[in-house]
Amino acid sequence: MTNQSREISLQRADELKSRITDYLEARESIVRGRDIEDTIAERRLAIMKHFGNATMEDWNDYDWQLENRIADVETLDKFINLTDREKEDIAKVGQEFRWALTPYYLSLIDPDDKYDPVRLLSIPTGIEIVETEGDADPMGEEYTNPAGSITRRYPDRLIINVTNQCAMYCRHCQRRRNIGGTDHHQSRAVLQESVDYIAKTPEIRDVLVTGGDALCLTDETIDWLLGSLRAIPHVEVIRLGSRTPVTAPQRITENLVNIIKKYHPIFLNTHFNHSQEVTEESKAACERLANAGVPIGNQAVLLNGINNDKFVMRCLNHELVKIRVRPYYIFHAKHVIGTTHFNCSIDDGLEIMEYLRGYTSGLAIPNYIVNAPKGNGKTPLLPQYLISRGKDYATIRTWEGKVFNYPNHESKNIRDLI
Ligand code: SF4
Repeated sequence: MTNQSREISLQRADELKSRITDYLEARESIVRGRDIEDTIAERRLAIMKHFGNATMEDWNDYDWQLENRIADVETLDKFINLTDREKEDIAKVGQEFRWALTPYYLSLIDPDDKYDPVRLLSIPTGIEIVETEGDADPMGEEYTNPAGSITRRYPDRLIINVTNQCAMYCRHCQRRRNIGGTDHHQSRAVLQESVDYIAKTPEIRDVLVTGGDALCLTDETIDWLLGSLRAIPHVEVIRLGSRTPVTAPQRITENLVNIIKKYHPIFLNTHFNHSQEVTEESKAACERLANAGVPIGNQAVLLNGINNDKFVMRCLNHELVKIRVRPYYIFHAKHVIGTTHFNCSIDDGLEIMEYLRGYTSGLAIPNYIVNAPKGNGKTPLLPQYLISRGKDYATIRTWEGKVFNYPNHESKNIRDLI
């Protein structure tokens, strides 16, 4: 290397550093769950004390987490500082929309911060029942159910909705019309009807098992369902949709992963929305899955006041990659009744994408997706990188905004060349 080329390289390195300085400064104020483990541990102790001096064995037991979900204002008030108005609002919202959070998820919340992202994701606010906009079923799922509890919107894949139960009831839930007032799993007969439809539909090669939350089913039912699907020769891939690695990581037991790994290839998509949710406990859960050979993807939802910020989303994606979760989608939130205060502009989503590409590795860049109305499909949106295209050229824009003409010659048949 000549002195001159080293000099140019050093100048470029300085230039690149200047492009990330703003993020590194902003990151200081973004809470990352794994950085506040001591605080979470203190809250955990207080919660365990409240629940009859529960032990760590209790805490690590998924059934204990579900049995002790916080779903009344009086208990919540012991851990979160609520005004009288907030307490009244939570009680009123609860009459219309279900809420419940696990002791684990409660331990992630700063009790004094009204705008804590984990709090906004889990604890109702009065606005949910004030909003009049939105639709209960913007995806038109009612019209995409050919059999059993299936939703089919695409040629080669479909969804089996196995339960309406979730470990926690998210305030932004895009499927809250399915959640209802009580938990119920689909009956074995309905699941069997879904499996039978897939067995006689040879073009289906990919099945997503979701809900609610697929991992709210018992281990025994998961074993039966995955085994039934794997026995269908044309089913190549099975996917599980579960937010339990985020809201109740205790669900990911050795027994569960041993069941799942019998039926590979199994993929799991989860749903982290903020780096505060990425904790040592969620990391351990994701590690158990990854060590069992389950690739994990993340489907975040773009949410006002939670992650509609280019640096918050970048930080989330970096935290996910560190725990072996691949950022897969950022969904633009749909207009679902009771959740529209979380909606943001498409400009927010595009700005986030603009400040991911080039600024971080492709591994940490999900696709930004708008769901077309009435179940008309996922539509990816990107900032514009192709400026124009002619017969022999394409004009492209790089992540830094530099514009180049790029040759664009017609492809030749390889057999004419070799
Ligand atoms: S886990 Fe998913 S389906 Fe369940 S409440 Fe949350 S967003 Fe809705």
